[in-house]
Amino acid sequence: MANRTITFEPDDRWNAFITCCSRAPCGDGALAGIPVAVKDNISTRGIPTTCGSRILDGYVPPFDAHVVELLKASGAAIVGKTNMDEFGMGTTTETSAFGPTKNPCDPDRVPGGSSGGSAAAVAAGLVRMALGTDTGGSIRCPAAFCGIVGLKPTYARISRYGLIAYANSLEQIGPMARTVEEVSRLMAVISRYDPRDSTSIRRPYIHQPTTDIAGLRIGMPVEYFGEGVDPRVADTVRKAVGRLEDLGAEVEECSIPSMAYALAAYYVICTSEASSNLARFDGVRYGPAADTRKAWHDAFSEIRWKGFGREVRRRIMLGTFALSAGYYGKYYAKAQAARHNIIRDFERIFSSVDLIAGPTMPTVAFRLGEKTDPLSMYLSDILTVPANLAGVPAISVPCGTVDGLPVGLQLMGRRFEDELVVNAAAAYEERGAA
Ligand code: GLN
Repeated sequence: MANRTITFEPDDRWNAFITCCSRAPCGDGALAGIPVAVKDNISTRGIPTTCGSRILDGYVPPFDAHVVELLKASGAAIVGKTNMDEFGMGTTTETSAFGPTKNPCDPDRVPGGSSGGSAAAVAAGLVRMALGTDTGGSIRCPAAFCGIVGLKPTYARISRYGLIAYANSLEQIGPMARTVEEVSRLMAVISRYDPRDSTSIRRPYIHQPTTDIAGLRIGMPVEYFGEGVDPRVADTVRKAVGRLEDLGAEVEECSIPSMAYALAAYYVICTSEASSNLARFDGVRYGPAADTRKAWHDAFSEIRWKGFGREVRRRIMLGTFALSAGYYGKYYAKAQAARHNIIRDFERIFSSVDLIAGPTMPTVAFRLGEKTDPLSMYLSDILTVPANLAGVPAISVPCGTVDGLPVGLQLMGRRFEDELVVNAAAAYEERGAA
């Protein structure tokens, strides 16, 4: 299908890319000739894939991820691999081994993370569309901070074959672009059943442009507008939901009591899964060279100490601890129980409303280097992790600014109702934005 090439030599002042493909093949199809950037934890045949880490130095995948096969079949040009927090662990793209990405809206600020490179590349106009991944907010957060649109699809709707795993039970690949329409078009290309991912399901997303939201019921959880949320951000989002009401939606208040445990449950589950997933990186073939005269456990410790950054090491230790004999019941099992309560709360709310609306992030983009302690960084994920724990679709669409910085409106829906989430976001984008 590759019958043309496009040249791609961007002025990347933002450090959005880890690898650029100066000549990218493209073909015919739904995305013919459209430059698309791919997050660097998604395998691309013949193009280095780093996960923003040194531990994969020298690794060039011999195969394409399913989503990359689909992009190529649609004629898109894969023009580069985008910067990210190491293995997706972060909210700012500052944990990348390749240096932080800067926010095109204000280069002194972070683009959000972990798909910060994808968001910055789109926001700066270097590409039309990009793929990100979202384990606990990594598509929606950078979309909100950079003023673009990002969708975390329903769990199981996109194959994770070829995605280098961080936390399998939470993460999904998803589309990012400047408009809802383009996010929807990209989603339609990448959402296909794939037998190589045992969680993949036969429910392909269908691009159906309609922005009629009359009669749609929208719930606003009190927890999304309360403590810890910048009141100016909350106000901006409340106004945006008010515009959806003007367009015919019925808005009511609701509550997610299990939110109190969401962040703790998320950080136990994601670190547990990460500690297991990252055990395979031994540095034997890739990564920093080790002193092979040393005993094997000393050599592995040295490689893993050098190859992984601080945040990744912290999470491997936390997850290993949470899963260890004697602590498993106290942490991992409790976190799973909390996850079930969250799923139940969402089911209850979705029996009386069609969508849940709130801010994507509790604040606007932080300054580079502003957040130094891990806990305050983790706290900023509070509004995004519930959708991952419940497996439901969630979109972030720009809805105004605070201090000149973008604010994202987050809309969540029932599982497999990504189309409805997208259509409501499109309605807001088209007719709601004042
Ligand atoms: N900030 C969250 C974390 O560090 C989410 C990251 C993500 O979605 N990959 O785990």
